[in-house]
Amino acid sequence: MAARVRALETILTQKGLIDPAAIDAIVDTYETKVGPRNGAKVVARAWTDPGFAGWLAKDATAAIASLGFTGRQGEHMQATFNTDETHNLVVCTLCSCYPWSVLGLPPVWYKAPPYRSRAVIDPRGVLAEFGLNLPANKKIRVWDSTAELRYLVVPQRPAGTEGWSEERLADLVTRDSMIGTGFALDPGRGSVAA
Ligand code: FE
Repeated sequence: MAARVRALETILTQKGLIDPAAIDAIVDTYETKVGPRNGAKVVARAWTDPGFAGWLAKDATAAIASLGFTGRQGEHMQATFNTDETHNLVVCTLCSCYPWSVLGLPPVWYKAPPYRSRAVIDPRGVLAEFGLNLPANKKIRVWDSTAELRYLVVPQRPAGTEGWSEERLADLVTRDSMIGTGFALDPGRGSVAA
């Protein structure tokens, strides 16, 4: 695959169709500037600032943009908040739509047909395979992303983090917890917290 990409880039450059510097800038953006740390900051702000959380619930696109996270595949965002009653899970059954501006590029499994089909057929089973065993009375809501609308799961704030700074809280927010295939990290044990 790497050789094929290099060959394609070489031909497109020779034909004058792309500028290698532009490609480098795009790669650098998604390697170093755009990634799940952005989403983690959004979640940590929502955990500590009820006003922001309310805004995020009503108009996620604007609330997220206020922190400087905008751009491709993040133009229309909706935040879905986990509660004691409901767990949210995000998928794109059609292809691989994903909120790049807050999570970066999607993991390989997110794009794979087994996840895309089974997340809607058997979400509870899929979550169990990710190590999340939800109580039977907990509702699972599955959100199917589209080219028009991308979802960000706001995981529940772990217990024992009262008084923590936003920065410290953001370290507990994993990529998977914002897709719904994980929980925020437990501050005490360094493992998952319900
Ligand atoms: Fe898609």
